[in-house]
Amino acid sequence: MKTFVFATNNAHKLDEVSAIVGKDIQIQSLKAIGCHDDIPETADTLEGNALLKARYVFERYHTDCFADDTGLEVEALGGAPGVYSARYAGEGHNSEANVRKLLQALQGVENRKAQFRTVFALIINGEEHLFEGIVKGRIIAEKRGMSGFGYDPVFVPEGHEETFAEMPSELKNQISHRAVATRKLCDFLTGIQ
Ligand code: IMP
Repeated sequence: MKTFVFATNNAHKLDEVSAIVGKDIQIQSLKAIGCHDDIPETADTLEGNALLKARYVFERYHTDCFADDTGLEVEALGGAPGVYSARYAGEGHNSEANVRKLLQALQGVENRKAQFRTVFALIINGEEHLFEGIVKGRIIAEKRGMSGFGYDPVFVPEGHEETFAEMPSELKNQISHRAVATRKLCDFLTGIQ
């Protein structure tokens, strides 16, 4: 079985990706390899941040690894908060405040179109590869649902009526941005084995 370090401290992301990759690939957390660092995300693109995080782990631990960076891109806000989604309401990664700021910014705005975009940076055998996953949807006016994390309670994916936070995690894991990017990564890994 192939083992990869997923360079994240977000337990939700670890659970989601582990559920999607299945049994053939083992995912290790940063904690599992003794890394407790808050890896800097100082690039101005999702691709740049995903690469920064993967390189950080590869350079220190010399292990095959991947990292993701995700952004919520809202059409009426010109693609914001995008790469700054985690810090939309200021430093501190506070999802409550981020969602509140987003709903305020969209108050009275008719165009609710948005998409989640994830970029994975994989480093395997010292080589870098990028994979992208997008899910389109819309931002509703008030939070709905208790599961998931981040902007899930205000995002309704296209073709559905429930927010990501209202649907079972199994369904989010089939259709989400991270699911699309994870499947691309798995297909790539299957192809080179
Ligand atoms: P990062 O990829 O951890 O930097 O996440 C950027 C921001 O997007 C954070 O505020 C996350 O909470 C949010 N985010 C990332 N993935 C998801 C998701 O699947 N659903 C909702 N919010 C997410």
